[in-house]
Amino acid sequence: MKTFEELGVAADIRRAIEEMGYENPMPVQEEVIPYLLGETNDVIALAQTGTGKTAAFGLPVLQKINVKKNVPQALILCPTRELCLQIAGDLAEYSKYIDNLRVLPVYGGSSIDSQIKSLKRGVQIIVATPGRLIDLINRKTVDLEAVKYVILDEADEMLNMGFTESIDEILSKVPKERFMLLFSATMPKEIAKITKKYMNDPKEITIGRKNEGSSNVKHVYYMVHAKDKYLALKRIADYYPNIYGIIFCRTRRETQEIADKLIQDGYNADSLHGDLSQAQRDYVMQKFRIRNLQLLVATDVAARGLDVDSLTHVINYGLPDDIESYTHRSGRTGRAGKTGTSIAIVHVKEKSKVREIEKIINKKFEQGAIPSGEAICEKQLFNLVDRIEKAKVDEEEISALLPSVYRKLDWLEKEDIIKRIVALEFNRLIEYYKGAEEIEVPRERSSSSREDSGFSRRRDRDRGDRNDRGNGNGPRVAEKGYSRLFINLGRTDNVNPATLMGMVNDYMPDKISIGRIDVMQNFSFFEVKEKDAQKVIKALNKKEEKGRRISVEVAQGGGGSSNDRRDSGRPRFDRNSNGKGRQDKDSRRNGGGGSRRPKY
Ligand code: AMP
Repeated sequence: MKTFEELGVAADIRRAIEEMGYENPMPVQEEVIPYLLGETNDVIALAQTGTGKTAAFGLPVLQKINVKKNVPQALILCPTRELCLQIAGDLAEYSKYIDNLRVLPVYGGSSIDSQIKSLKRGVQIIVATPGRLIDLINRKTVDLEAVKYVILDEADEMLNMGFTESIDEILSKVPKERFMLLFSATMPKEIAKITKKYMNDPKEITIGRKNEGSSNVKHVYYMVHAKDKYLALKRIADYYPNIYGIIFCRTRRETQEIADKLIQDGYNADSLHGDLSQAQRDYVMQKFRIRNLQLLVATDVAARGLDVDSLTHVINYGLPDDIESYTHRSGRTGRAGKTGTSIAIVHVKEKSKVREIEKIINKKFEQGAIPSGEAICEKQLFNLVDRIEKAKVDEEEISALLPSVYRKLDWLEKEDIIKRIVALEFNRLIEYYKGAEEIEVPRERSSSSREDSGFSRRRDRDRGDRNDRGNGNGPRVAEKGYSRLFINLGRTDNVNPATLMGMVNDYMPDKISIGRIDVMQNFSFFEVKEKDAQKVIKALNKKEEKGRRISVEVAQGGGGSSNDRRDSGRPRFDRNSNGKGRQDKDSRRNGGGGSRRPKY
């Protein structure tokens, strides 16, 4: 393996990347850097995200820039605003010891005027999303006459997003005498067309096999009936208490629905899709990046800009229509040398898609067995024990309190104390799973795909209905000490449990505890402590929300159709060893997790 110095990277850049912890070049860098520095042909690099491609093109391009000339010399095109900002940020880091080198990100969704001002001041590298760059070209505020390097990053994504014409237009404004570099995770025909049209005898570099997924990713599929997909998802999430992953859905609507259900069922989840405002998307992405969020439910398009290296899982809530997208989805885990699992929850009819994908990724899927309630309880228990074992104890802080705690527990044996701690966390979980029947596996595979369990055979869903309906016939009754209120806002008003909690607390002078929430299509139910019920009714009634007069009253006769309330909630417990992912009932009530999302 060569060093960055041996690849020809200049000292001032080496200094910066060493500070970033880059000790040795990654394979794509080893191949691309000397090539670009040597000024030979154009390059097509087939590389997954997370392979180090930004530095592969970024370092040599930075080195080739003439800082004495204050005109754009390199143009990097990428599909999304987030990737644009990330590339520009990385380039700024790499070049922090090069004086007078300016990199400008230009992307839609932010002020064009300030981008124009920066362009007027002079930049040498432009990182752009195609749409905004065309806008700037049309306004004659950007001059591409001196561009010598053009990089198309995530080219397949740009084509998927319909940027083919824009790319054509942009390339027609760049001098013919230039080097072009194209990065793509997959090699569909459209990419081949572009390379033929615009590239000059390109050298093809393949990191891994063409279209192949990362070797660090294990692919597992779970076969369930279509109607059991959500229950399977919950079990998988429960089985991995420290999961940190993206759940991909096909449509915006499905994304929001699954996120709502997960939030309602006590998971630390949130949604990311195109119906949210840019500010909301930024907020959710940031929450996910800093691991304050464990499960991000997203559409393919919205998740494109999100760059996170340490995902443990990618979950395909159904397979994508376009099977090439599977490579992108699964490529989000197993990055930067880490391992990950890409899970597909599929129904019988999708089986043939699994086989097609296997051909593309050149890897076999394992067939997973939906974890039994017993297996989940065991896994969660050991996670708890592990957390107890590894808990950081701040002697100074707690030493003053300990003597009285010891005194109080003095009469208990060590085994009794352990039993009680475990019971405290687990009673609710065990209660939930002990009555739950295992999810039925479609007949095809019934014998091999079910883990044995001593738990009874009643279905999860039945249990959900029973919970919702109290005794199975009547309307749902409020939890002890709580009143169940009706509000005339529902999903049609863009209300979800988090926004509802936020709204109630916005109108109340003091924060209050909110219990179970059931959001229906046109109205919702929520539970507040009995003592707060009248105060809430008074505070919210007749207020206006999005032009609608709010009406709140004590619920008469229970909540909505059984369809809306098919799945029972889950027992809430701290699911994250670092404590950040915690979203138990109390933290949710107090504005934790989803409720902090920008309003409505
Ligand atoms: P990229 O594919 O450019 O998004 O890079 C994936 C991740 O690898 C990013 O977090 C980079 O900062 C990191 N990275 C890139 N090159 C190196 C290197 N040579 N050594 C260590 N980390 C790197």
